[in-house]
Amino acid sequence: MFDYRATPDLLQGRVILVTGAGDGIGRACALSCAAHGATVVLLGRTLSKLEAVYDEIEAAGHPQPAICPLNLEAAVDKDYDDLADQLFDTFGKLDGLVHNAALLGPRTLMDNVKTEDWQQLMQVNVNAPFALTKAMMPLLRAAPDASVVFVSSSVGRKGRAYWGPYAVSKFALEGLMQVLADEQDGTSEIRVNSINPGATRTAMRKAAYPAEEPEKNPEPAEIMPAFLYLLGPDSKGVNGQALNARG
Ligand code: NDP
Repeated sequence: MFDYRATPDLLQGRVILVTGAGDGIGRACALSCAAHGATVVLLGRTLSKLEAVYDEIEAAGHPQPAICPLNLEAAVDKDYDDLADQLFDTFGKLDGLVHNAALLGPRTLMDNVKTEDWQQLMQVNVNAPFALTKAMMPLLRAAPDASVVFVSSSVGRKGRAYWGPYAVSKFALEGLMQVLADEQDGTSEIRVNSINPGATRTAMRKAAYPAEEPEKNPEPAEIMPAFLYLLGPDSKGVNGQALNARG
């Protein structure tokens, strides 16, 4: 596992937006950020799941989160701009942005991938993170120590047969991460990195490997050290890096 121990108040005073915050790794990331003092903006497409995470954070006495129901497949620039306006009015800045939401999509020979499936997946996994990042840049620049994290995959770093548009979308995210990171010229304090979670016990993993024993893989909460490291002050100066949550 990534070797990092976060202090309890690591993210105190930080506002962190997590996409796909209602389930799996995004849910664990939201809970973990809140437990370390952050005010979390919970973005996702299923309101009931976001509300459950909200309730869990409130019941634990962590900073009150915000809920942002948004389907990344249907969202347009105006949705992202409206969200940026709301966040600006409420918080005036954004310290962390975790692009976690993703679709697995069809895993088959490239010949068999339907164009509409390709486009749907690229919309959620690539176009939405691009548009959301673009809209959030002024808020990130307003934060003293902002961190953008793209959740990638091993198949986004080395191509693998039958992983179809999912793998290609993760390569695109790694590219977006690298370009954005290279654009940070020191005039603002934004760092941009990616994390490959590695095999993790979630619904997506189960869909990808239905025959696998789920207990074989760590729970999402166990892979949080890498996320906390990148979102907190200890990663200051770390920019353009592709990390592995499993070390
Ligand atoms: P899950 O499928 O468990 O969770 C994905 C989350 O994304 C859900 O909260 C889901 O919302 C949300 N989401 C999907 N589509 C949309 C959409 N159109 N609009 C808004 N939100 C959406 O996946 P994981 O937690 O396993 O994966 C999280 C990230 O980690 C992904 O980027 C994945 O590629 C990556 N990853 C995961 C690995 C693993 O082993 N689990 C390994 C390598 C990478 P809802 O719950 O409402 O459907």
